[in-house]
Amino acid sequence: MACRIIDGKAIAAEITQELKGKVAEFTRRYGSPPLLSVVLVGDDPASHVYVRRKERACGEVGIGFERHHLPAGTSQAELVELVRRLGRRSDVDGILVQLPLPDSISEQAILAEVDPAKDVDGFHPVNAGLLFTGGKGIVPGTPRGILELIRRTGIELQGKEAVVVGRSNIVGKPTAMLLLQENATVTLAHSRTRDLAAVCRRADVLVVAAGRPRLITAEHVKPGAVVIDVGVNRMPDGSLAGDVDFESVKEVAGYLTPVPGGVGPMTIAMLLSNTLEAAAARREAAGS
Ligand code: NDP
Repeated sequence: MACRIIDGKAIAAEITQELKGKVAEFTRRYGSPPLLSVVLVGDDPASHVYVRRKERACGEVGIGFERHHLPAGTSQAELVELVRRLGRRSDVDGILVQLPLPDSISEQAILAEVDPAKDVDGFHPVNAGLLFTGGKGIVPGTPRGILELIRRTGIELQGKEAVVVGRSNIVGKPTAMLLLQENATVTLAHSRTRDLAAVCRRADVLVVAAGRPRLITAEHVKPGAVVIDVGVNRMPDGSLAGDVDFESVKEVAGYLTPVPGGVGPMTIAMLLSNTLEAAAARREAAGS
């Protein structure tokens, strides 16, 4: 069977189109659009690019956007104060603190200050806990995007063997939880996993989020498997590479996401969804 390339860009564009209509309806109903507030500390060029992308995406669907750019020397206490202030502001629906933060600031401490109801990245311990206990919280964009890609491609997860390579709090662990909720049998692999190739070859669905360029080759993939490549690695020649060796794996896999154009666009689309849903939940709670 020829490998089908999953076009994340096209699926994300479809979702963005749907969101446009939903945001317009929200704005008619409540008199103003949802507002996303992004906090950026320092001058990391990649972070600036990501924030600009988020701003553009908000503009595309009609979500309001504001940016708080603080100097690299900002103290943890000053950042905590800003995040708390945004939490108190009734016009702010979503708060996103762009990572990474400067070394002098504890990311854990800052993320724990974000109002869980406005935590559109889904990184607050309350939202992480809700995901792990099966409650209804805000799910981080990348894992949510991965599941949405799988769902919209028409792939059934129930009873399947799923292997997730990578156990970070922002991708690996929440993705494993979502796959489990869909009744897949889930294995989490990491840097200490023995015989990674053998573990990966068990997978009907293989999600790779290791941050290691071309870690996964044809020998890691069961024929016909669904392979989702989350990795984004900047190569010395300036190009982007995934964690999956696209050329060799496409000869074996049944479905494969490209990098770029796979999971990346879905992450932003899911951030927009999270912002709209957080806004709607807050307005409904305020009205009841
Ligand atoms: P982290 O560095 O936080 O985690 C990487 C994980 O991969 C760790 O659990 C690590 O294991 C595991 N790992 C590293 N090397 C190996 C190896 N050789 N074999 C098996 N496991 C290994 O990364 P993130 O989860 O934040 O991101 C992963 C990748 O996804 C990165 O390339 C990142 O850029 C990309 N990304 C893409 C997004 C998108 O929107 N497309 C969004 C977020 C991330 P251990 O725990 O043992 O150290």
